[in-house]
Amino acid sequence: MFDYMLTKEQLKIRDEAREFVQWMPRQMILDMDTDKIKFPKEFLQEAARRNLMGCRYPKQWGGRGMDWATTCMIMEEVGTLGYELACVFGVGAELVCDAIIQHGTDEQKEKYVKPLLQGKIFAAECLTEPRGGSDFFGATTKAEDHGDYYLLNGMKRFIVGAEGADYFLVYAKTSPEAKPQESITCFIVDRTEGVEVKYLYGLMGCRGGGTGRIVFRNVKVPKENIVGKLNGAYAVFNTMMIPERLGTASMTIGAARPALEIATNYTARRKAFGQIIAQFEGVSFQVAEAAMLLDAARAMAYVTAKAVDNGADMPRIRRMVSQSKKFITESCQKVVHNSMQVMGGIAYTNVFPIERIYRDVRLASIWTGTSEVMSMISAHEWYREYFTQKAKIQSRDYELDAQEANEDEKIYDDDDMWKKGW
Ligand SMILES: Cc1cc2nc3c(=O)[nH]c(=O)nc-3n(C[C@H](O)[C@H](O)[C@H](O)COP(=O)(O)OP(=O)(O)OC[C@H]3O[C@@H](n4cnc5c(N)ncnc54)[C@H](O)[C@@H]3O)c2cc1C
Repeated sequence: MFDYMLTKEQLKIRDEAREFVQWMPRQMILDMDTDKIKFPKEFLQEAARRNLMGCRYPKQWGGRGMDWATTCMIMEEVGTLGYELACVFGVGAELVCDAIIQHGTDEQKEKYVKPLLQGKIFAAECLTEPRGGSDFFGATTKAEDHGDYYLLNGMKRFIVGAEGADYFLVYAKTSPEAKPQESITCFIVDRTEGVEVKYLYGLMGCRGGGTGRIVFRNVKVPKENIVGKLNGAYAVFNTMMIPERLGTASMTIGAARPALEIATNYTARRKAFGQIIAQFEGVSFQVAEAAMLLDAARAMAYVTAKAVDNGADMPRIRRMVSQSKKFITESCQKVVHNSMQVMGGIAYTNVFPIERIYRDVRLASIWTGTSEVMSMISAHEWYREYFTQKAKIQSRDYELDAQEANEDEKIYDDDDMWKKGW
């Protein structure tokens, strides 16, 4: 994050986050990449000891009462350690706890948020199923009403942190016959009888973060574990897309940053044709482009965070977090791509960590909603916003500022998308 845009208090937490990054043992990062470590419990415990998780939540529940801009800044710093570490940092404290803080009861906050932020328990978010992740409302995991409890059956996959989680935030169908947006409920599911977790994916990157498949077989979930309202998962999902997308975007900035730093250092020392390679425009322009993209990404994350902090309306926030996620993750992937390119063959080896970063950040535009899904939401919200505002705001008719502003030549189908109910 840009230093000059942060308050003294934010800068202090930024420095605390940087001290935490310094603390991280190198061997832990290497052992995660080779799957020797399957879940970095000590990393989360240390983050909790330093009170770095969930900093935007009220102090009452273990946060620091800070804002989204501070969260983005911390996520960027943590992201520099490696994408998988930022993923596990994010899913429990920033996603699962966000849903409980915003929609849960005080009892749930006491039981599930406080101890998680203290590093005593861990959590994972279960949305994606083998049949698909993009179509949230197509969930097939079912929870049937059995009086005092719900009986949960189904399967979730690609769940970060599953290996070490003590509880799961699970979306399940409770009213299969209802309209999709009124058919799903969000539950807190303890790791009890009937919950089977398998750490089984041969991931390209982001290893060691406990990513697994979860099968729920006749799991009894008490009614008090519903988060929000029965059949009200849409409301939970609606707010959870903020930490999912803005958090992911911010940590990707952090993950890409070391690649650019390493490439800058290397190209300022390496010679070819008798010259330092940074003196070739073909090299330095790629480095400059990467620096520009990283700054543009930061600026976008900051503006979006401010929109959330300042209470922008929800449709606008949906668009801003979705377009931020797409732009920032893809820009950061380009940053890493350029960094590898300007270093030549050595960057493709494990002498430098760029090959790991390259593998890791490939996930950024896939998880927590693909780039295509981000475009789908952005397009939907943009058209809706444009036509809603157009109806409200008296603005200049720019179409008439043309030499031949002839209405007869403007041929449309009369049934425009807006009239059809976009
Ligand atoms: C390492 C890793 C960690 C993950 N962690 C978690 C986690 O912790 N919790 C969790 O719930 N999930 C997690 N996921 C799942 C991830 O969020 C999904 O993989 C992702 O949302 C896409 O779902 P899918 O893989 O089922 O692809 P699909 O939904 O099958 O999509 C396949 C392709 O079709 C495209 N597509 C789908 N619908 C549309 C459309 N309407 N318009 C245009 N294109 C479309 C998609 O963009 C994609 O390119 C993780 C995944 C990985 C790989």
